[in-house]
Amino acid sequence: MINIAADYSNEDLSFVIESAQTIVLRSPVKTPVQTSFGTMTDRPAVYLMLRDTQGNTGVGEVWCNFPTCGAEHRARLLESAILPALVGNEFLSPEQCFQTLQNQFQRLSVQSGEPGPVAQSIAGIDIALWDLVAKRLQLPLFKLLGAGQANIGVYASGINPTGATESFLRCRDAGYKGFKLKIGFGDEIDYPNIESICSQLDSGEQLMVDANQAWSLDQAIVQAVRLADYPITWLEEPIMADSSADDWITLAQASNIPLAAGENIASVHSFTAANQSNWLSVMQPDMCKWGGFSGVIPVANEALENAKSYCPHFLGGGVGLIASAHLLAAVGGDGILEIDSNPNPLREKLYAPVVENGRIVISDEPGLGIDLSVLSALQNDPALSVAH
Ligand SMILES: [Mg+2]
Repeated sequence: MINIAADYSNEDLSFVIESAQTIVLRSPVKTPVQTSFGTMTDRPAVYLMLRDTQGNTGVGEVWCNFPTCGAEHRARLLESAILPALVGNEFLSPEQCFQTLQNQFQRLSVQSGEPGPVAQSIAGIDIALWDLVAKRLQLPLFKLLGAGQANIGVYASGINPTGATESFLRCRDAGYKGFKLKIGFGDEIDYPNIESICSQLDSGEQLMVDANQAWSLDQAIVQAVRLADYPITWLEEPIMADSSADDWITLAQASNIPLAAGENIASVHSFTAANQSNWLSVMQPDMCKWGGFSGVIPVANEALENAKSYCPHFLGGGVGLIASAHLLAAVGGDGILEIDSNPNPLREKLYAPVVENGRIVISDEPGLGIDLSVLSALQNDPALSVAH
């Protein structure tokens, strides 16, 4: 169950959605985003705008990072299959709607061979619904969800192997104290970057590394031992995310660096197994990829109960980033929010928080605080808007 703040626990969270609109955007980028499994030469986003019968609106985001051509598919999937189950029906709360849609589309997920896109679509709906009900109550969402604290830790993510040191210095100048470097490109590329950044880390600063599933178990064990020579806070997805628990445990036993994963976990069963495991130290669900608020809050709470750190994964547009910030504020703990350090107008125009001393403060605007006029301007920009 989602914990609503005590002051608002009797509020009516029911709704009937009258209309829904999917917005597909794609922005070319000058500097490609490099990962060990591929390169992004443009950045997509799928935003979802819901309007209830009282005229309230909510905005969500649906994961569609890789490959970027998948954005249009998510929008079509929503419009043809999933939104018809939402629009016109009464739900008691966003959480009840989330459970209903999950149950309703479970068979289609399996039959279509597309559990990911279906889960991502439902996640985006859930985010929009929580934005809508909080806006209707004139409350910032993190307050509705029980957080008294709007101040959260953040880190700069997506530091490419090309120009890594320059990116690290730029992020430090922007107020960050945590930095995550992409690795898994070969020792001759990875280690000069790690050496360079580690040699310049100040007290209170931290480096994380993300291999994006680059290695076999044997390779990962060798790498984990070598990486332990450096002050690295966590090692993210060194092996395939769906490796067996036995492989993860073997790796964890060989690694002195805490292991992080979660962006590629997509079921309650798998999240619970990871939360209750001995191998995982940092739980990183992506709320636009699975779960939205309704799915991820219980996962994050379970992570904290099992002495893990909850650090939201996010590398998409502005709606999902601010939603991830509200989610971390609501859950609490000592986790830090991932903020993509690569230029992306689909993120920056909607949400560009001021980072000071490694932290941000979430605004007191109702709901998620998304400026609908900015969203509308993006949608009406022919250089960004994509027909689908
Ligand atoms: Mg990652």
